[in-house]
Amino acid sequence: MKPRSMLKGAFLVLVAAAIFALGQYAGMTGRTVQLTNVADAAGQAAAPQRAAAPVTSPTGTAPDRYLYYPGTEELGSEEIRLIALGTGMPLARRSQAATCWLVELGNGDKFLFDIGTGANANLSGLMIPFDFTKKIFLTHLHTDHWGDLPGLWAGGWTAGRTSALEIWGPTGATEDMGTKYAVEHFLKAYNWDNMTRLANLASAPGKIIVHEFDYKGENQVVYDENGVAIRSFPAIHAGDGAVSFALYWKGMKVVIGGDSMPNTWYTRYALDADVAIHEAFLTPELLWKLYNQAPETAIGVGTYVHTPPQAFGKIMSTIKPRMAIAYHFFNEADTRSQMQKYIRETYDGPLTLAEDNLVWNITKDAIHVRNIISPDEAWSVAGPTAPLPPDRTVPDQLSKWSLDHRWDISDVSAKMVQEFKAKHNMQ
Ligand SMILES: [Zn+2]
Ligand SMILES: [Zn+2]
Repeated sequence: MKPRSMLKGAFLVLVAAAIFALGQYAGMTGRTVQLTNVADAAGQAAAPQRAAAPVTSPTGTAPDRYLYYPGTEELGSEEIRLIALGTGMPLARRSQAATCWLVELGNGDKFLFDIGTGANANLSGLMIPFDFTKKIFLTHLHTDHWGDLPGLWAGGWTAGRTSALEIWGPTGATEDMGTKYAVEHFLKAYNWDNMTRLANLASAPGKIIVHEFDYKGENQVVYDENGVAIRSFPAIHAGDGAVSFALYWKGMKVVIGGDSMPNTWYTRYALDADVAIHEAFLTPELLWKLYNQAPETAIGVGTYVHTPPQAFGKIMSTIKPRMAIAYHFFNEADTRSQMQKYIRETYDGPLTLAEDNLVWNITKDAIHVRNIISPDEAWSVAGPTAPLPPDRTVPDQLSKWSLDHRWDISDVSAKMVQEFKAKHNMQ
């Protein structure tokens, strides 16, 4: 990991330890709120707490309760791991990608909900083999919710995925506003990419299978396998065709709210969720002041297309989840206190103000939230299925015209090539 990440982690531990030691639970902002609410959600006493076990070695002193190191913990048989891979805005930034959630279940299943711009970098940091991140559920077709599909599609294809991606997404009001149309035309737009890879790679991982469902369906089952049910219900956002999802497993319910103004479907179908994710949008003031929007745009986007923070709070105090997660705003020092203040006008329950690289461990007994420490330079991790050799389903896309201008200096790398082929029993 990078020193910057380590410093950030060390700082968080110190901050968290100080907060728990002082027992100051009111009026905190940002990450401290999250830690406070972990205690709330777990029903723990609001009192200073020790680490799980006393330190027994001077070289292993850090408690593990604040940080998650990806891939180092097994999930329990009835445990859900929810990870925020993107929680920000369409103008993705290095510290906050656009919307993407990963849900991992104790039975081994993994589901991506949205794959927004910039999210792949965070996904890579989890070091999960690409064969385990093939199931993607799209809430709607704004780029901040599927803008990193090209990276996952082509990146995973080049880095060991062995079969097709699968996308579940809504129809649109017309055929050309639906997920099937979008993915078909995505592949057309990326035709050069697709054809040149098909000429050099295995073809199966380059395919995308689309499962399109009616965006008007209310609480309809769109996925039902291995004891996991995922239901969709409509959202109201910018145009017909946006949805939210609810994942049901082992008597628990995680609701992934897509972009929406407040709506009656959400309050009905997210009722009593264990975890309820819903957008809480930047205020018109912040959109104008920091996001460079005209005042007229800021009012429209912040109060009609999306959900203001006070309305988010009202929604959560109505459905009463064990943990409410607010996202879709740049979560930083300039915004956090204002967003929290407005949410707390209408909601006093367990709350996380989302940021990227947070993890929630969810069981029937407790919900714990921690920061993730992941490497900036992670490589693809080998899965249980060996990567496939090329099957060259299309001919070489280099013509004689190109190849006639090739400068054949292969002799300079001949020894390296020969050694590699000998090592792998290649002709
Ligand atoms: Zn949107
Ligand atoms: Zn959005």
